[in-house]
Amino acid sequence: MHKSSNLRKIRKSMEKTLDPKRFEHTLGVAYTAAALAMCYGEDIVKAETAGMLHDCAKCMSNEKKLSICEKHNISINDIEYKNPFLLHAKVGSYIAMKKYNVHDRDTINAILNHTTGRPNMSLLEKIIFVADYIEPGRKQAPNLSEIRRQAFLDLDEALFRILGDTLVYLDSVKGDVDPMTQKTYDFYKEYMENKRREAAHGQHG
Ligand code: FE
Ligand code: FE
Repeated sequence: MHKSSNLRKIRKSMEKTLDPKRFEHTLGVAYTAAALAMCYGEDIVKAETAGMLHDCAKCMSNEKKLSICEKHNISINDIEYKNPFLLHAKVGSYIAMKKYNVHDRDTINAILNHTTGRPNMSLLEKIIFVADYIEPGRKQAPNLSEIRRQAFLDLDEALFRILGDTLVYLDSVKGDVDPMTQKTYDFYKEYMENKRREAAHGQHG
């Protein structure tokens, strides 16, 4: 089967499974991911596919998500038990494999890690994480226009700012922070410091 015909099938299926708002968001993420793939030299079809599927489990009831995890031995941490919506990434990556026959490891990881990120993300994972935050339909986030611009200039910088703003936001609403979000932030804080230091060193000769 040609790759892009699978993408068309996935898009149709998303239109049926997701509510209209979530479907709009999904299209926004898929196209933004494709644009970032063009910018940074990632496979465009892969980026669009991952974007199209990233929230495929979002409109499922919490009970259903929890039961899929239990049935298929997908581990659930305390924060996920308390906030089952967080599970849509884990369950979504499982559905992408089983229902949509996506077997590319990087694509599956991009879906799996799209809410918390992880240290040392691949280019595709960064693209989906950033696209999810900056897609045109998103409205309320601090520094959004600046981050949108930054995303096409320095993907790591945009990623780092999103992680920082997400932690500030979660703190302000007293939301639970998945330990992985903090771990990812800490990793990229150090990563960006090293990157800046190297850039400065390079300038001096
Ligand atoms: Fe999501
Ligand atoms: Fe999303």
